[in-house]
Amino acid sequence: MALQRTLSIIKPDATRRNITGAINALIEREGLRIIAQKRLLLTQKHAEKFYAVHAERSFFNDLCSFMCSGPVVVQVLEGVNAVEQYRKVMGATNPANADEGTIRKEFAESIEANSVHGSDSKENAAIEIAFFFSDMEIVG
Ligand code: GDP
Repeated sequence: MALQRTLSIIKPDATRRNITGAINALIEREGLRIIAQKRLLLTQKHAEKFYAVHAERSFFNDLCSFMCSGPVVVQVLEGVNAVEQYRKVMGATNPANADEGTIRKEFAESIEANSVHGSDSKENAAIEIAFFFSDMEIVG
């Protein structure tokens, strides 16, 4: 299986609790490499654009406000089957349903403040990576 890339976001609930390193230790332990990284404070406009696919969902406004409530760390991860692999490492959206050993089981506070984002397909990964990073910021 060829190397793949995916977008990871460490969300404001996690940066607030100073667990960026703990989350990244788990990501690296599971065989994914962090090949681009930056810390940002998203604006409401950024968040709404990034989550545009969820615009019709009831939680859209809350989600966008939450994503702007503190710093995020955006990252590109690379590895074999990285999109699916990182989704496994993250665990289910709702931490109550997440498997043992996953980031969300270990760290998430709630279905909204669930510590991490990960692209859900190879196509969306390419779009989401380009949203945050230029080619010269990604060093594989
Ligand atoms: P993901 O791919 O596992 O992150 O889940 P989704 O794409 O379905 O949702 C995107 C994000 O919206 C989630 O990671 C949560 O932060 C948030 N979210 C999802 N479902 C809910 C919900 O029912 N209520 C609230 N407040 N937020 C939610």
